[in-house]
Amino acid sequence: MNSNNKDRSVIEIIIVLIVVSLIGGGLYYYLSKQMEVPEIIEKPTEEKEEITPPPEEELPKEEVPAEEKPVKKPVVQKCADETPADQCSINKPKYCENGNLIDKCSVCGCNLNQSCNPNGSCSLSKTQVNIMAYIQTGVSGVDETSYRDFIENINKLYFNNDLNIKFNIGGIIWYNRDQSCGTNFYNNDVIMCVGPDKGGYLGPPYYVVGANTNNPFGFSPTGVRAVSHELAHYLGFQDLYWLRSQEPLKTPSSSEIENDLMTDPYNAANVFGEHAKYVLNYNFERLRVGGSNSILYPRSRIASKLRINTGIPNQTCQIYTRERDYVQFNSKINTTPGLTKITDSFGNFQMNIVAGDPADNNFDIYYLDCNGNNFWINSLMTEDCFRQQGTGGGICNIRCLSPGNYCQFY
Ligand SMILES: [Zn+2]
Repeated sequence: MNSNNKDRSVIEIIIVLIVVSLIGGGLYYYLSKQMEVPEIIEKPTEEKEEITPPPEEELPKEEVPAEEKPVKKPVVQKCADETPADQCSINKPKYCENGNLIDKCSVCGCNLNQSCNPNGSCSLSKTQVNIMAYIQTGVSGVDETSYRDFIENINKLYFNNDLNIKFNIGGIIWYNRDQSCGTNFYNNDVIMCVGPDKGGYLGPPYYVVGANTNNPFGFSPTGVRAVSHELAHYLGFQDLYWLRSQEPLKTPSSSEIENDLMTDPYNAANVFGEHAKYVLNYNFERLRVGGSNSILYPRSRIASKLRINTGIPNQTCQIYTRERDYVQFNSKINTTPGLTKITDSFGNFQMNIVAGDPADNNFDIYYLDCNGNNFWINSLMTEDCFRQQGTGGGICNIRCLSPGNYCQFY
């Protein structure tokens, strides 16, 4: 071997080393690339960790609805009266909305005899009475406008007396001076005959009323009170002026009787008294349900017997009836007793109600003389009995313990 061969060998060795190192480097590169793969694989795990937050973001979302539930809870919250949300209270027309009770009659309705208002509240339905008006022509101050105002003023009078009724004009027919009022109701409840000298009630029982156009009546305040009085007859209440008697046997004073519209329409201060209001309201209900024919008139409400207690046993009582004075519009006590009764061991006696007037089987007042003690009884006491008993025709208990005064229903 020569030096050239040695050189070639050295070169060959170098080449081999280079090749080996190249291969080795390539292998390292390859391996190192493969080593990077796990790093890349790890990256996805890092990405998974990055993806994981979105579910964590969804979790808060789940918590948000959980937080919203308390906000929505008032919707399912009961109201103060235990009504569940979005439901009607048993107390109509209340409705439970957002925890508050509001008026909502469009959904919940109203109680019997009430009607639904646009604002959701309920108010008592007014009893309606339709008037068929016959009006005389040619009367000063009387035309359709003034008549409508007149009826409105009657409505106001009833309203101001806490009487929930409305009179409507169902029809108007004009009649001439040489004619008379018509008698056709044309399906209305009551006929009102308007003209000179037409005051009072004009037909049995009370379905035809007159509106007197003479002074001081007409469509004046006095006329309004007078026709309100007449309409109260139609509605079933009695005249109270018969409960006043003249001297020498003058009835005790009674503010209700003196100040009642059923005694005197001339006095501007007069109003419907307690008994009138009770009966009118009672008949409003009947009228609403059954019409005019169901109105209960005084003779249907009156008791058949009076059981009178004077507190004194074995006492003789003389009972005096009255005569009506149609000029004075009050009564006069007859000078001789119509009946004699003796109290039992409890101080009681019982008597039938005596027909005081052939035209009715009603009574107005009795004057009692029990061994010198004087007592007074009037028909308002039987109204009290009717109110207590809910029916007429029974026995009305009356106690007479205060001489000179009215006895008391008990
Ligand atoms: Zn009258």
